[in-house]
Amino acid sequence: METVPLAPFQEIVEEVRANGGDAFKYCYQCGLCDTVCPWNRVTALSMRKLIREASFGLSETDEIWRCTSCGKCLQRCPREVQLVDVMVSLRRMATEYGLFPPSVRPVRGVTVGLSEQGNPLGEERETRADWAEGLSVKTFKEGMEILYFPGCYLCYDPRLQKVAAATVNLLHKAGVDFGILGVQENCCGESIRKTGNEPIFKRLARENIKTFVENGVKKILVSSPHCYHTFKNEYPEFMVNFEVVHTSEYMFQLVDEGRLKITKEYGKKVTYHDPCYLGRHNGIFDEPREVLNKVPGLKLQEMAESREDSLCCGMGGGRIWLETPKEERFSILRLKQATDLGAEVLATACPYCISQFEDSRLTLTNSEVIQIKDITEILQEVV
Ligand code: SF4
Ligand code: SF4
Repeated sequence: METVPLAPFQEIVEEVRANGGDAFKYCYQCGLCDTVCPWNRVTALSMRKLIREASFGLSETDEIWRCTSCGKCLQRCPREVQLVDVMVSLRRMATEYGLFPPSVRPVRGVTVGLSEQGNPLGEERETRADWAEGLSVKTFKEGMEILYFPGCYLCYDPRLQKVAAATVNLLHKAGVDFGILGVQENCCGESIRKTGNEPIFKRLARENIKTFVENGVKKILVSSPHCYHTFKNEYPEFMVNFEVVHTSEYMFQLVDEGRLKITKEYGKKVTYHDPCYLGRHNGIFDEPREVLNKVPGLKLQEMAESREDSLCCGMGGGRIWLETPKEERFSILRLKQATDLGAEVLATACPYCISQFEDSRLTLTNSEVIQIKDITEILQEVV
């Protein structure tokens, strides 16, 4: 792998510090991060070595783009080195200097889509609410109970539009007074920020915040843990605070309060995959399980790596936009864990995880043995 200086030593160290990666100086090269990093399940990758090189002002141009920001190493590092921040700070510099290795070039196209249409897929802004046609979804107005913010992939991706439809059907059944922003909605910006493109993130965040404030939004329901993470933990950098709730939490609450009534059985073996940005990064482990446990007939079984130990699907940190060869996909290992359990359904609560598992499922010789479902899709079948 080519190792090149990104910038003279002092400059890169200053840049890493300025970009929030200062903690790299505490690294004492123990290598514990490498023992948990999912990349080492599929190939050889040393984050320890990357940190060492960064401290000398060097960077392996391809390798800094591998980190999925899954957060596993953050739990393990004895020195609390914020490896994700270090990787993002290196990517910020690479972005600034235009150093995109060929494997990362798709990020440029994504940036154009985000700038011009407010979504990474390059779809037209005018069609952002087309998924809701025929579903009796209102436009959000001040005073409504909650804003539903489906996010880019649920708006445009045909597989994930089904999750948006399941969600609004459940909201209707529970009598929730909700609305959407439709064409006024922009990408939340979480993943582009992880690629190091801070200006685009800031622009998207400011536009969303302006729209939320102008429309009198107080409480936001999100389907994506990535939207959840950035609205809850990153938008406060702009001196705003919205109440943010993920669909798994909200559906649990609606069932628990008796607003959503489960009337049917779901006689299947299900296992639940904790998305990194819902679980490890935001501590939401129980509600998705509790809501599944309320469904009669549903047998919930845990995979070996669950909750804090969940195995990343591979799509965080902007990796959703990059090609990962089949033999390097963690998602295939995860599917194997689920099928080894005899699970008929792999349930999760994140559009990135669903996309990746659906894609990887097709590479299995026995792809029909397991279905991939969002929690809302299972609930929709039993209410
Ligand atoms: S676990 Fe922490 S201290 Fe150890 S090598 Fe990794 S970053 Fe450095
Ligand atoms: S956040 Fe995850 S992918 Fe990134 S270095 Fe840490 S363990 Fe590896």
